[in-house]
Amino acid sequence: MTLPSKLAFAHLPTPIERLPRLSSSLGGPTIYIKRDDCTGVGMGGNKCRKLDYLIADARAMNADTVVTCGGVQSNHVRQTAAYAARAGFRCSVVVEPVLEEPDAHYLESGNMLLDGLFGAEIHRTDGGGDLESAAEDLAERLRREGRRPYVIPLGGSNPLGALGYVDCADEIAAQAAALNVKFNCVALASGSGGTQAGLIAGFIRNGVDAVIQGFTVSPEKSRKQSRLEALTRGTLELLNVAAPADLASRLHLDDRFFGPGYACVEPRAIAAVRRLAETEGVLLDPVYTGKAMAGLIAATEEGKFSRADTVLFLHTGGAPALFAYHATFSSTG
Ligand SMILES: *Cc1c(COP(=O)(O)O)cnc(C)c1O
Repeated sequence: MTLPSKLAFAHLPTPIERLPRLSSSLGGPTIYIKRDDCTGVGMGGNKCRKLDYLIADARAMNADTVVTCGGVQSNHVRQTAAYAARAGFRCSVVVEPVLEEPDAHYLESGNMLLDGLFGAEIHRTDGGGDLESAAEDLAERLRREGRRPYVIPLGGSNPLGALGYVDCADEIAAQAAALNVKFNCVALASGSGGTQAGLIAGFIRNGVDAVIQGFTVSPEKSRKQSRLEALTRGTLELLNVAAPADLASRLHLDDRFFGPGYACVEPRAIAAVRRLAETEGVLLDPVYTGKAMAGLIAATEEGKFSRADTVLFLHTGGAPALFAYHATFSSTG
């Protein structure tokens, strides 16, 4: 069976680096970081690997416009807008404010500023409604105007997009062999689930038994669990790999670190962002990777790992959103 074709826009492979100062300050396992914040296109992030497949599909379908949706500060929307520009598509997006009392930085800076620079046509909703159906409505409107829209779901998370993280699983296996390390655990932020589903499917295909620990970034864990399972099954199907009988036991989601809600400020996440910046010169973000790193730090402090363990933190990007959280990080007030 041949796999769907893909573009090669993303800068791959991304490096795996040690985090020696973080590891020794925690006194726990050896921690490495996979720099998927460095995938290049439009300031990078995990959506680039998915978009290599999704935008190739849009081309194959003879689309002329890419439609997607997300929060105002969506990294997915920003990377999609950059891919659309690079591939020569128009891009139309629906964004919702998410936060209850967003300030001007949140509404205009960070990813929002970049979406505009990439030429995306931005439709703002006042929130509350169903974002994916708003994107479908937008696509329908564009069809009536004679355009040929290609709709990408929230976070680019369908089995086709998740193939990007099947490839990442292969990349990790090759790099682990070259470094002569065995990762006991891969820790990452889990949102719409495509990243985690792709990694799980890839590890299953390669017979690698490391724990892939997702840290959720918004409420409703039970829905996330079933969505993650469905996405993983769909991805395995694309790969023509049978789902193992113990699939459910491989879906690890920890929902203790998203704080008051999606995109909301969580003190442990802010502390994790500061800690990585100060100890390793690595920029995390407050919405995803800061929360996942807070989870990894807590797991280490809870004694979930031994000193002999080796953990890989998947940096999924998001630092462009730091500028939208000016009030949270500013030292001058
Ligand atoms: C989208 C995103 C995630 C979550 O990835 P999913 O595939 O949606 O689970 C994690 N980190 C960052 C920075 C993201 O932009």
